[in-house]
Amino acid sequence: MGPVHAGAEEALAELLPPLNAHAAAVEADRCLYCYDAPCTHACPTHIDVPRFIKKIATGNLRGSAETILASNLLGATCARVCPVQELCEGACVLGADHKPISIGRLQRYAMDYAREHGVYPAVKAAPTHRVIAVVGSGPAGLSCAGELAKRGHAVTIFEKRDLPGGLSTYGIIGLREPREIAIEEAHSIERLGVEIRTGVEFGRDLTLAQLQKEFDAVVLTAGLGRTPALGIPGEEGMTDGLEFIEESKRAPEDMHIGRDVIIIGAGNTAIDCATIARRLGKGRVTIVYRRTALEMSCYQHEYEFALREGIEFRFLSQPNRVVLEGGRVAALECLRVELGAPDASGRRAPQPVPGSEFLLTTDQVVKAVGQEKSGLIALLGLTTTKGFIAVDERFRTNVDGVYAIGDCTRAAGAASTVMAVQDGKMAAKAIHAHLSGTKPCDEWQPAAAQVD
Ligand SMILES: Cc1cc2nc3c(=O)[nH]c(=O)nc-3n(C[C@H](O)[C@H](O)[C@H](O)COP(=O)(O)OP(=O)(O)OC[C@H]3O[C@@H](n4cnc5c(N)ncnc54)[C@H](O)[C@@H]3O)c2cc1C
Ligand code: SF4
Repeated sequence: MGPVHAGAEEALAELLPPLNAHAAAVEADRCLYCYDAPCTHACPTHIDVPRFIKKIATGNLRGSAETILASNLLGATCARVCPVQELCEGACVLGADHKPISIGRLQRYAMDYAREHGVYPAVKAAPTHRVIAVVGSGPAGLSCAGELAKRGHAVTIFEKRDLPGGLSTYGIIGLREPREIAIEEAHSIERLGVEIRTGVEFGRDLTLAQLQKEFDAVVLTAGLGRTPALGIPGEEGMTDGLEFIEESKRAPEDMHIGRDVIIIGAGNTAIDCATIARRLGKGRVTIVYRRTALEMSCYQHEYEFALREGIEFRFLSQPNRVVLEGGRVAALECLRVELGAPDASGRRAPQPVPGSEFLLTTDQVVKAVGQEKSGLIALLGLTTTKGFIAVDERFRTNVDGVYAIGDCTRAAGAASTVMAVQDGKMAAKAIHAHLSGTKPCDEWQPAAAQVD
């Protein structure tokens, strides 16, 4: 195990360079500007993609950014982190025979212009004198707060960390999104009049009763928790995957990376941890997973990226024990696994073979096996769906006046930033309708694509 070499920041700098003006114009000109565009339907926030691309093609970058922001207040983050292959670009009609339009990179081009030229969303309504508390400043909280502020409500966000942005700031690998972008985007929400109070933990520094006394509505957007325990001997010697990523964004040059690193897990977080270890370390990086490549929960393009990075995979292996020597990690003991019938997740269930123990030499084991459910569930006595906070179609929990959105409620489908942003938008509409005594239904449909 050794400290990371100089140049660590460069090794984890944003992977895709920004488009230059010529490349953006050429790419925008390829768009067919489809009527009722499939990309707009495939975008969870229903950005009018043909419209913003058309505006790039005609040199109206301010207008392009405004079109994006009208549907998605976190357009700069989403441009970088959205799994576009699965969403807008995956639906592009050019994808069948040609290369799909690089929608994410064009969106980033417009949003970079917005950042450099001070294009911000604006408040559209007179003050309503209604006050709303939002717990958490991740994508869900920022989006909801910003959309409420646009409607004239006074919003205060309470955030337990020192910096706003949630996982965009602390959890998404710098190759996809530098944390400065996430923090600047949080500041753009503050420009709408939203107050963000960092370093304030709901449940420790303030109670629900206090919030209910001061505010007309409370929105929980606390995300998920820490990496869960595996419950195997020697676990105390493991590195926590979420902390590993956080450190790589904060101070990559101070990190200690093993010479033979093992990552446990098979989701996108595991791929991110492996990428960091590979780029900052000097040795071998292996992902250990108890099923096979077919059952991995990471996106296919992430798996292919990991292979290109030189990350190795050891399938059908279940961690059984971390071997510690003098307090240091010396090996990971695993059991060989056979796959049985599909389990509740629909994937073939891993069945460890008794007596099949084998050792993998390693000096660092990183645990990247998801996140625990929100601690607010027990604290507030919230009802749940599959362990997530249960909400109705208007994001109401079982506690009167308390709403919940984002990852803490995501019982179905893959959790993603753009889904959290859309939750924030829809919840703001529902809360606004409730506070103003109107129906949200007429606002409920996504706008149809239109092109200037
Ligand atoms: C490692 C990793 C990589 C990811 N990469 C991608 C990606 O590339 N693309 C993508 O689309 N999605 C990605 N995701 C998923 C995406 O980050 C989440 O879906 C999204 O951030 C959810 O937003 P949220 O606002 O619900 O929660 P979060 O972003 O988790 O924000 C919750 C906020 O609430 C705060 N909080 C929690 N409890 C309290 C409390 N008691 N009091 C006050 N504040 C509190 C937290 O500090 C945090 O700031 C990734 C997730 C992880 C873990
Ligand atoms: S927000 Fe994400 S999914 Fe929607 S158009 Fe932009 S990059 Fe695509």
